[in-house]
Amino acid sequence: MLRDLIIIGGGPAGLTAAIYAGRAAITPLVLAGATPGGQIITTNLVENYPGFPEGINGFDLAFAFQQQAQRFGAEMVQEAASRVDFACHPFVVETHEQAYQARAVIIATGAFPRRLGIPGEREFFGQGVSTCATCDGFLFKDKATVVVGGGDSALDEGLFLTRFAREVTVVHRRDELRASKQLQERAFANPKMRFVWDSVAAEILGDKTVAGVRVRNVKTDETQVIPADGVFIYVGLIPATRLFRDQVALDEAGYVIAEGHQQTNVPGVFAAGDVQNPEFRQCVIAAGSGATAAMAAERYLSSHPA
Ligand code: NAP
Repeated sequence: MLRDLIIIGGGPAGLTAAIYAGRAAITPLVLAGATPGGQIITTNLVENYPGFPEGINGFDLAFAFQQQAQRFGAEMVQEAASRVDFACHPFVVETHEQAYQARAVIIATGAFPRRLGIPGEREFFGQGVSTCATCDGFLFKDKATVVVGGGDSALDEGLFLTRFAREVTVVHRRDELRASKQLQERAFANPKMRFVWDSVAAEILGDKTVAGVRVRNVKTDETQVIPADGVFIYVGLIPATRLFRDQVALDEAGYVIAEGHQQTNVPGVFAAGDVQNPEFRQCVIAAGSGATAAMAAERYLSSHPA
């Protein structure tokens, strides 16, 4: 099971790395996990990936990345890494199914949605609470929904929800959104969207399913209950680095530190995409860093023959 290159993660960074490695005749193995594609598959309309003037659905874009990687010989398995050892060489990468060795590794495990940690959130997850409107929005036809957060994800997914929901109330902790101006303009112009400013979700209420959200105004401390059948939470992301804690250098927030050419502090281990990028988390940036990581890995493999 010795491979030249194992790419851990099957989102835009990992799949772009696979395209570049495949074209360099490295035949990478991509551990893509149970649902390949990464976070982008939960974005309804990606409007800023170059080459798609009308935008493209996130799932379709990820699927195209995957087909392109496979066309150049990348091998993809729906396994997730469960343990790594970068102290030995070749490196060890284990999944629940297999133990692999690799001469080089690219970490591209991305990030996952942060939760609020409020009462009701865990209890009603899947019963009205969701972090993916693209996946679950159709369940809320003619229903009232709440979106928590003020970034691109909150507005993009909130706008998607308006296709189904009767109303979409965005609860944001400040009086100014973080989302791009273009998304803001579309959200403000949509008659189904309304905004509750300077407020945080304090509790998700319901019996068997969600019935509402108690929100607290952070300026006045007043609370109100917004009746809702669905609550969609978009309060940022957490890097998926639990596996790498004692293996490569991480920053204080848990992101992999990757410097010149996506190199981590372990020679031969590279990182790409959101797992090493707390800022500007864009698909095109993830893809670019994946390409860089693959080219750097190719150089590393050439200068360290087996
Ligand atoms: P984000 O940009 O980090 O925004 C998170 C939002 O949640 C912020 O508005 C933040 O408020 C709020 N928040 C954080 N913690 C909170 C808490 N405990 N309680 C209440 N609110 C909280 O995350 P994101 O929207 O998921 O976007 C992640 C990245 O993906 C970004 O780089 C974004 O540009 C990108 N993205 C792009 C697109 C697109 O281009 N179409 C779509 C989706 C995502 P504050 O503003 O007060 O900090």
